[in-house]
Amino acid sequence: MDRQQEYVLRTIEEKGVRFVRLWFTDVVGKLKSVAIAPAELEKAFEEGIGFDGSSIQGLTRVYEADMLARPDAATFQLLPWRGTDYPVARMFCDITTRDDEPARTDPRNILKRALESAADMGFTCYVHPEVEFYLFQQESDPEKIPVPIDSASYFDHVTRSTAHDFRRDAILNLEEMGISVEFSHHEAGPGQNEIDLHYSDALSMADNLMTFKAVIEEIAVRQGVQASFMPKPLGNVPGSGMHTHISLFEGERNAFADPTGPYGLSKTGRQFMAGLLRHAREITAVTNQHVNSYKRLWGGDEAPSYVCWGPNNRSALIRVPYYKPEKSQSARLEYRAIDSSANPYLAFAAMIRAGLAGIAGDYELPEQADTDVSLMSTMERQILGIESLPESLSQALRVMRESELMAEGLGEDCFAYFLREKKHEWREYSTQITTEERRRFLATF
Ligand code: GLU
Ligand code: MG
Ligand code: MG
Repeated sequence: MDRQQEYVLRTIEEKGVRFVRLWFTDVVGKLKSVAIAPAELEKAFEEGIGFDGSSIQGLTRVYEADMLARPDAATFQLLPWRGTDYPVARMFCDITTRDDEPARTDPRNILKRALESAADMGFTCYVHPEVEFYLFQQESDPEKIPVPIDSASYFDHVTRSTAHDFRRDAILNLEEMGISVEFSHHEAGPGQNEIDLHYSDALSMADNLMTFKAVIEEIAVRQGVQASFMPKPLGNVPGSGMHTHISLFEGERNAFADPTGPYGLSKTGRQFMAGLLRHAREITAVTNQHVNSYKRLWGGDEAPSYVCWGPNNRSALIRVPYYKPEKSQSARLEYRAIDSSANPYLAFAAMIRAGLAGIAGDYELPEQADTDVSLMSTMERQILGIESLPESLSQALRVMRESELMAEGLGEDCFAYFLREKKHEWREYSTQITTEERRRFLATF
């Protein structure tokens, strides 16, 4: 037993923790949880807790169903919303086979492998996401159009809205769990909010995002509203993205920073960006994994549709946020396609692999785009070599299927499962006959 594990056992005793939830994530990004009694924990640390992996989306095939969940003591936290009468704690788990091999389809393991590749090249990877979401009046009937809780807009201070209380409660809960928040504000859509998490290493951030969604849902239930991370819940208002800022460090030094480089970006930063751009289309099925994600990407309102970059261009896929030269540690790139319905482990793994390929292959950075590329004609974009992001999940899957980067990055099993599962999602969606079609065509022919 190591010191962190001893610390966990001691804390459990001191605080009188009654339940320990073991958390992990399936391939499509759903949080899974099994509660164990504190008395079982020592055994869980030593041997893992067995479960049937074939019942979890994408984890195993039926013939190798027995899996072990091994709690990672470094992720131990009390769940503040469960109160102090019968405290409940949680830890994220790594999933292994009975022979103690990391499960090939465990998203946490897939991200760890990407981070190992970065480490082999001398880098650690930091990220910070801007998470957007809507708050709707409580209404569980998906047949009805959801009603936002207010009609405010970007940065508005809304006197009688519950959004302040919502953000305050969410932030207090997150901070109690060791997740620091940098900014929070009302976003452009009615009832739309944004919470930006303070940067951390990519693995902790993926864990934090799984926690974030659980916290937001808890607060929503408590406050009688419906929170939604759906990328485009309503047609006529902005979608919810999860712009992700990313940087690589070499030891203590930000490897993207070079005050003498264009926009303060080092060669490594430019190569990483070139990698993200060249592979953007291949990783989109994972960063934007639902049929609905494409309605955000192609629905305007500052969501990116084209593969290009600009220092301060909000129509671009990648933005280089301004930083003061004396604050070179904050040099970073902002990847703007990703939405928060993505599985953060897989999405970060894909983005990091794309960027690292740019460094390893010494890719050249294309020209920047200074104007709103969505206002250009198709011909103009073609002349400048600016490609489109996939226009639908189906198109994204077609591009991903041909991608060596994604097959290697996700590993064969996860890659195949993901493609299969998402093709199914596309089929189910595209064979629906919608009200809109009936409205337009029923009486026409
Ligand atoms: N909501 C926009 C999107 O879908 C982003 C707005 C912003 O720049 O924060 O990406
Ligand atoms: Mg925003
Ligand atoms: Mg942003």
